[in-house]
Amino acid sequence: MLIPPDGTRFLSARWLLPVEGKPVPFGVVAISSGKIWRTFQKEEFESLFQVKRGNMAVLVGSVASAGSDEADGVFEYPFEDFGLSIILPGLINLHAHLEYSALRCFNTEDILFDWIKSLMCNVRSWTEADFRSSARSGLRWLAASGTTCVVDSSYTGQAAHAIAECGLRGVVGLELFGSAEKQAQNIWGRWLEKRESLLTANQETEAAGLPRAEAAHATQACLRAGSSLAQALDDGRVSLTVAPHAPYTVCPSLMRLAVDWAQSQNQPVLVHLSESKNERDWFCRGDAILDAFFLGLPGSAREDVASLSGRAGGLSPVRHLSRHNLLGPWLIAAHCVHLDDEDIALLGSNQVKVAHCPRSNARLGNGMAPIGKLLAAGVELGFGTDSAASCDDLDVLSEARFAWNLQRAVNPSNLLSAQNAIWRLTQGAAEILGLGDVIGSLKEGKAADIAIFAIPEVHASALERPFDLLVYGKPRLCDLYVNGRKVVNKDV
Ligand SMILES: [Zn+2]
Repeated sequence: MLIPPDGTRFLSARWLLPVEGKPVPFGVVAISSGKIWRTFQKEEFESLFQVKRGNMAVLVGSVASAGSDEADGVFEYPFEDFGLSIILPGLINLHAHLEYSALRCFNTEDILFDWIKSLMCNVRSWTEADFRSSARSGLRWLAASGTTCVVDSSYTGQAAHAIAECGLRGVVGLELFGSAEKQAQNIWGRWLEKRESLLTANQETEAAGLPRAEAAHATQACLRAGSSLAQALDDGRVSLTVAPHAPYTVCPSLMRLAVDWAQSQNQPVLVHLSESKNERDWFCRGDAILDAFFLGLPGSAREDVASLSGRAGGLSPVRHLSRHNLLGPWLIAAHCVHLDDEDIALLGSNQVKVAHCPRSNARLGNGMAPIGKLLAAGVELGFGTDSAASCDDLDVLSEARFAWNLQRAVNPSNLLSAQNAIWRLTQGAAEILGLGDVIGSLKEGKAADIAIFAIPEVHASALERPFDLLVYGKPRLCDLYVNGRKVVNKDV
C-alpha cells in the first residue's frame, strides 16, 4: 500500500504537465520534503484518496488490506485544487542581468554599443545596495512569470545575494572583463578576490540611489522565502560561476583562465557571442564603431586598441574562440545572431549551448538568430530575456512566444510547436545547465520547483491544448514553488 510520507501535500489542476511524460488531464502532483513524491492520474488518485472539506486528501479503502500496522490510523494530507489551471515545472530563464532591472524602458533609441555606453554611465554612481535593490525588482518579475531558475550575468555579484534571499534558484556568473593580454593574470586574480569577498561579505545597506524601483515594478510580491548566499550555495540552490563578457572584451588568455577555473568547479561558462554585426565585422576585418567604443573606455590608447586579440584577424568570433580552444559543452552563449554555416557547425560539433534572446536582439537592432539552422545542427537552445534594460520584461514565456512567432513570420512552413517551447523552458534548459536530474520536470525525486498558471478564458477546443495555452494564451501565475516552498504571495 502506498502511504504518503508525513508532510506530503497534493496539488491538482485541469492539466498536469510533467514534461517528462504525457500531459495528464485533471492530474495531481504530490510534494514531500521539498521534492516531487509522485504524480497521479485522476482515476488512480480517486481510487486511493477522498477529498474532504475541499482541502484535505484522506487515504481510503485499501489501507487495511495492505496489512499496515497503521491500518486504523487516519491519513490526511493538505490538498489544493487549482481548478481551471495548469501545473508544470518552474520555468528557466537562461540569460538575464537582474541588476539592471531598474532600467526598464531605458534608452530605447540607441543600438548596442551606444546603449552599453549609456548603461555604463547610468550605473556608475550606483552603490552595491542599489544593484541589489534593482536585482530584487527583477526577481519579482521572474517569480510573477513562473520562473523558478535564472542564469544571470552579474556585474557586482549582488544578484546572487538577491536570488538567495528571495528563495528562487540561480546560476550566477560574476562578470569578467579584460581585453589586454598582458593584464590577464592580474585581472583574473582580482576576479578571484571579488568572488571571495562576495562569499564572505553580506553587509546590506539602504539603496540610496534608486527611487524604490522594486515597488514600482512589482506585479506580484516575491516572498523573502530564501536564505543567506552562503546557505544557498551550500544547499545547491544558488551556484556561482564566471561570465567572461564577450570575446571582444575578454582576451583569449583571460578566458582560458576562466574556463579552466569553471571546469574545475564543474560550472558552466556564460558569455555573449556574435550578438551584433559590428562584433563579427570587428573580428573579421575591423570595425570603426567597436574601435570607437574601446577608445571611449577609460585609459584606452589608440595603439592598445589596434593590438587587441582577434581584431581584424580574418576569423569570426566563433572561429576566434575555436582557434583558442575555447568552445565546449560547458559554454552557454547568449545571442549567437551573426553566424555563418561554418560557425553553426562549430557550435554544434563543440556542443556549445545557446541562450536565445530574440526580444533583446530586436530591441538593440542586432537582427535575428538563425535558430532553424542551429536546431538542425543539433545545438541545444533555450530562452533568455536578457536584462530589463533591453527587453520589455523578464517573462520567458513571452520570450518563447516572440521567438516562435518571429520564426513563423519569416518562414511559414517552419512550425515550431508550443510543446517544444515548453520543453526548452524546462527540462531542455535544465539539461543545458547540467541539472537535468535535479529540476526541469515533475519526475519523482526531483526538486519540487513548480509553476501553476490559471487558464485564460478560451474556446472549449483550446482547453485541450495546454501547451498552446501556456505559450500563446498569456496565462496568469497562480502559485510558484521552489524546493516545495512557496515563493510568491498571490494575495498581493
Ligand atoms: Zn546579456
